[in-house]
Amino acid sequence: MPTVVGSVAVLAAASGTLTMPAAAGGTLTGDLLTAPERPEASEREASGLDTVVAASRSLQVESAKGMEAAHEATVEQERREAAKQEARKQREAQRWVSPLTSYRISAVFGSVGAWWSGTHTGLDFAASYGADIRALSSGEIIWAGYDGAYGNKIVIRHWDGTVAWYCHLSRILQRSGTVSPGEVIGAVGTTGNTSGPHLHLEIRPHGGAPINPQPWLAERGVTP
Ligand SMILES: [Zn+2]
Repeated sequence: MPTVVGSVAVLAAASGTLTMPAAAGGTLTGDLLTAPERPEASEREASGLDTVVAASRSLQVESAKGMEAAHEATVEQERREAAKQEARKQREAQRWVSPLTSYRISAVFGSVGAWWSGTHTGLDFAASYGADIRALSSGEIIWAGYDGAYGNKIVIRHWDGTVAWYCHLSRILQRSGTVSPGEVIGAVGTTGNTSGPHLHLEIRPHGGAPINPQPWLAERGVTP
């Protein structure tokens, strides 16, 4: 019996001894195993976070670069659009038009006749009395008033330096300032030395001697 008890006790002790290291050692091993790993893990986590933060920063930088590039593209497009509009405006301002919509050429440049002291220095557009007279192109009115045989006259220096005389007007509608192509400046009349209502147009390159308006107008797409 004591042997049995002893053996039980031994067994119990043995089992105790057996379980004891298992419990303590387990915890210990666990502690020993996990304890040094914790800083490593947090370092790993931290470095993982750093990577995410860095990647996000890099993405932000990339997206900022992308936005900058997009902005530059927009600025470039706006600049190109403005240049196009400027070119369009310039083309419009440099357009040449006929001074009258309805007319008949009644006397050409260089004609000799009783109406002129020498040869005819301009081109005559016979038209209805009071018809609108339009500026050939953009320019500035440099003179307007009554001028003897020319009657009521408007002088425009056009954008290319050509000076044009618009004569025999019944009415002067603009006396100064700038004009755009086709802008109405006066009305057809018979003031000065005329046989009937017409516009006497003189073309004077850079304000010099008058030239034949017909080929000059034709070169600019206006066929009188
Ligand atoms: Zn004339």
